[in-house]
Amino acid sequence: MSVPRFADFERILFFTGAGLSAESGIPTYRGKGGVWSEYDYEDYACQRAFDRDPDKVWDFHDKRRGAVGKCEPNDGHRIIAEVQKSKKGASVVTQNIDGLHQRSGATDVVELHGSLWRVRCDRDGLVRDDASVPMSPRKHDCGAYWRPDIVWFEDSLDERVLERAHRLLAACDLLVSVGTSGVVYPAADLPRIAMRNGAVSVEINLDDTPVSALYQHQLRGTASDLLRAMSL
Ligand code: NAD
Repeated sequence: MSVPRFADFERILFFTGAGLSAESGIPTYRGKGGVWSEYDYEDYACQRAFDRDPDKVWDFHDKRRGAVGKCEPNDGHRIIAEVQKSKKGASVVTQNIDGLHQRSGATDVVELHGSLWRVRCDRDGLVRDDASVPMSPRKHDCGAYWRPDIVWFEDSLDERVLERAHRLLAACDLLVSVGTSGVVYPAADLPRIAMRNGAVSVEINLDDTPVSALYQHQLRGTASDLLRAMSL
């Protein structure tokens, strides 16, 4: 297995998914123990559910905040943050909503699917950081509920966030996909932008994914072990 080294590149883009945070104890999306094998998203993670019963949706998200808040960034997050510190052109585009990149010291993280630690007024769209557990008060001064600033099922991605991700992907010389199954769209299409623009591409995952064949280097193992190997 040939392992590209961070030292040979400058504009490194990390495209990360739930597998990166698995070693921190946060369940991935798919598979055994995955959040959506236990809960039906139609009851807890879509605007329709929130419109029907905002308190039920908040109870669920408070539980997730409580669980994720107890988890710490792992070596994978830390290595990514160190690379970003040492390379001016390195960036992070994540599908994760857990905030662990930022807690490990990464900056300017592009959060494609929003954040568990931000809330948005369901009426006027005002956004603010909020790390309270349970989130309180649940209503904005205007009388409407705050909702988690997360891209739920059936929501669209924020156009400005998507544009930033496009720009960074088009400019990178090394694309490192870490712990993503590559099946959640439109996020799963983004790595192709880097590939089309000539970036060297690396996929880090425990297993093959439906998009593995697109990558020049397919590294199999845990995110932290393989990111460490690329740092040597
Ligand atoms: P996914 O669950 O669909 O896929 C996770 C991938 O990570 C799998 O391919 C798995 O083989 C791999 N993996 C698991 N453990 C790993 C490890 N230790 N090292 C390397 N790879 C490992 O996740 P996804 O592709 O990110 O899509 C899930 C969606 O759900 C995203 O939209 C995301 O927003 C959301 N989600 C986020 C979190 C989080 O914020 N931590 C957690 C669960 C789901």
